[in-house]
Formats: sequence, C-alpha cells, structure tokens
Amino acid sequence: MAGHTETKQWKAAEEADKQKGRRPKGEEKKVPFYKWIDGLEITVDAFKYGRIEGCKGYFLSHAHSDHYQQLSSSWSHGPIYASQTTINLIKLKLGVKDEWLHALPLDETVKVDGIDVTLIDANHCPGSVLFLFEGPHTDPKSPYSKTPNRIFRYLHCGDFRASPQHIHAAPPFVDPLPGRIQKKLDAIYLDTTYLAPSYCFPAQELVINACADLVRERIPDVKPDVKPKTERLLVLVGTYSIGKERAPDTRRVYACSIVKAIAHALSTKIYCDARKRDLFLAQDDPDLHSLLTDDPLAGQVHVGWLRDINREVMSDYLAKYKAPRVEGGFTKMIGLRPTGWTYRSETKDKVPSIPKILALEQQRKFSPAGLYPQRDSTPMCMAFGVPYSEHSSFFELTCFALSLDYTRIIPTVNVHTAGSRTKMKSWIDRWAAEKKRRADARMPRIVPFRALTYW
Ligand SMILES: [Zn+2]
Repeated sequence: MAGHTETKQWKAAEEADKQKGRRPKGEEKKVPFYKWIDGLEITVDAFKYGRIEGCKGYFLSHAHSDHYQQLSSSWSHGPIYASQTTINLIKLKLGVKDEWLHALPLDETVKVDGIDVTLIDANHCPGSVLFLFEGPHTDPKSPYSKTPNRIFRYLHCGDFRASPQHIHAAPPFVDPLPGRIQKKLDAIYLDTTYLAPSYCFPAQELVINACADLVRERIPDVKPDVKPKTERLLVLVGTYSIGKERAPDTRRVYACSIVKAIAHALSTKIYCDARKRDLFLAQDDPDLHSLLTDDPLAGQVHVGWLRDINREVMSDYLAKYKAPRVEGGFTKMIGLRPTGWTYRSETKDKVPSIPKILALEQQRKFSPAGLYPQRDSTPMCMAFGVPYSEHSSFFELTCFALSLDYTRIIPTVNVHTAGSRTKMKSWIDRWAAEKKRRADARMPRIVPFRALTYW
C-alpha cells in the first residue's frame, strides 16, 4: 500500500482515538481503520464504538476486557461471532443475550455473510482465536466491490502467541501439499504488543516444563519405608486480575497452562474459589474440568491472585491449611507469580540483526535454575517469579512474519502514538527485507523450528 494512504489512515485513526464525551445526536463514533477488515463489512474487537454504520458482523477474538469494552447485556447492534469458549465466557461475565451470539468452530471454514471464516487457536487465553477471512470485497465503498472474482485474504491475529503450528498445521492459509504455493495474505492484523527486540523471552512450553520440574524437585521426601509420610507441598499459582476486583466482568484468568502442568506433575487436583471455578467451567477444556476440586485439601495446586504471592499472604494462607493441625494439610508452600516482566533479554546490541536474533533465540534453553526465589522467601514459603507471556515474543513475531506471505502488516497494539508506530514500522520493513534475502538465498520458506509448539 502506498505510504501516503497508510499515513492518512493512521491520522484518521488518531482522530478517532481522541473522541471523548457525547456526540451530537445521530453522529456515531468514528472507528479506526484497523478495527475494520479491509473491504469487508466486518469489524474485530470493536465493541467500544457501539453500533457501527455498515458493520454486519462483530467479531470478538477473545474474552479479555480490553477487547470487548462496552459490550454488555443490553447489546443490540448486530451479530457477534467468536469461539464457543469466548461465547460462554461473555455470557457468564456480561449476560449478553443469546440472540446475538454465534459460536464458530475451530479449524473449520464456515461461511458468514458470503465470507469464508476460519478460526485458529491463538495460544493466548482460553477461547482466543485468530480469524482468517477469505472472500470478495462486500463493502460498497471498496473499489473492488464490483469484482466478485477477486478473492481477498486477511488474517486477524487478535492477541496471540505465535508458534510454528500457526504456520505449519493451519491448512487454511498454508497449502499443506508440498510444492504448492502458499496463498498470499492481503493483510495480517498483527498483535504487536512486543514488537521490539528487548522483548525476547523463553518459549512458553520451556517455562511451563521448568515450573513443573521445580515443583517436582521440591516435593518433600515421602518414601514411606524411610520415614512416615508427613510432608506435603502446596503450590499457589497467582493469576492476573485487572480493573475493579469486585467486577467479575473485568477479571482475567491467566496462566491456565501452568496450573494444569503442575497439577499433572504432582498427580493432584486444582482448587480455586467459586468465581474462578465458574470461569474455568466456562472454558471448553475437559482436561481442566477433570482436574478441578472444591476440596482445598484434595488439591495441592491452588489458584490465587498475583498479589497473593508474597511472604505475608502466603504464610497466612499456609497457616489455614497447616498440618498437623489440619489433618491431611500441607507443610510447605511454593508460590508462582507468572509475569512477563521478570525476564531480561541477553542481547546487548540495541539493534541486533535479524539472523543474529534467530540464531541466539533458537539456542535458548530454560530450566528451573532460571526461576529465582523472591527476596522475601522463607524455607517454608518460597515464591518464584515466572517469565510467562500470553503474547508473542519479538523473536516469535519475527519467525511468524518471515514464514508467511503477505502484502501488508497492520499493527493493532501500541498504535496510539506516531513515535511507537514509526519504531514498529522500521521492524516490519526489516522483516520484508529479510524475507527477500532469505528467498534470494533459497533458505526455507518457513523458519525452521525446534518443536511444533515453539521456534
Ligand atoms: Zn488478551
């Protein structure tokens, strides 16, 4: 797309951002261009604009509150499309009426108003998806609306943690037959949360395995023939919450995969309060459901809030279930505090080259030794920060972009200032140059990966 068109689009988006307060009657909120799928009568995660003129389908990528702001039980502006889990969650959290809700299947192409839509697991939070839209332009304002044979392809990433699975095992946008040409995407709407090289953190699977290993290493010696089985470990996993604590609609439940991995490592159940339990039950995840218990002593993994992971709260918490006073209780406790911010990149260069980033990151390992106890830990209550992210690292974004064929990348996060957009644009341009270099050097089209779940 010509540079000046792009500049104009962002300028208009900035103006749309600035709208505040009441508008004259009949005047609707302006919607930034990146909330629309270009040329289609479809918006994604644009609920805060209320009714949108010309929008026939309101798509929701996942049930995090910053993506569904203003969506409420009184919604009546048009059909909402999302995954089954997301639909369950917004029904539970917001009470949106059934008549507006349409659950779409995963990994299966379905028609919505003449457009082919495919949902792909986003690896972000339960129910989160990428949307692939394929079809002719239907917006009468598009110059292509009169050419129904021209098929456009758009990939909207919502919030996601990119993995080779998104490229390799997603037949809708990569033709699975070897030797055939990958279908080019007209645009990728990209989750650019961490589009800067300082955000290189270890693969999620490596971190989760390290947490499970850490917990296993700390299981007290319970060999029954050596000494009586008196020691029992409790693991409290902090999850993130945002906004007002009492408003269930603003809650997020994070780090499900850590919670599950630890429960499996200890062969135990997961205990949490009734509210979190309802959120867990709304997720289309039979494995998680089978692990839940409402008996705090039956589950060695408890789910709390991030702010609970400190010595004071943990000591009080352990005291509540402490053996031998409490029969079948616990003697020791580990707290895990998943957060994206405990990790520092090892790269010293301010602007490292892309091949250098790929080489460095692909060697990165992660073990329990990389998890440090918080300063206020005691032998009985150990708290650890865990570098955990549900968004792609810069390295993962780079691999994702290098592996796909596209015309344009449209950032959807950190887009509100020109300075931030310029910085992101420089990396998007460098990806394009690197793609060309790799193609000229006949390097593999898909960046080689260590496992299907991470590069
Ligand atoms: Zn999110």
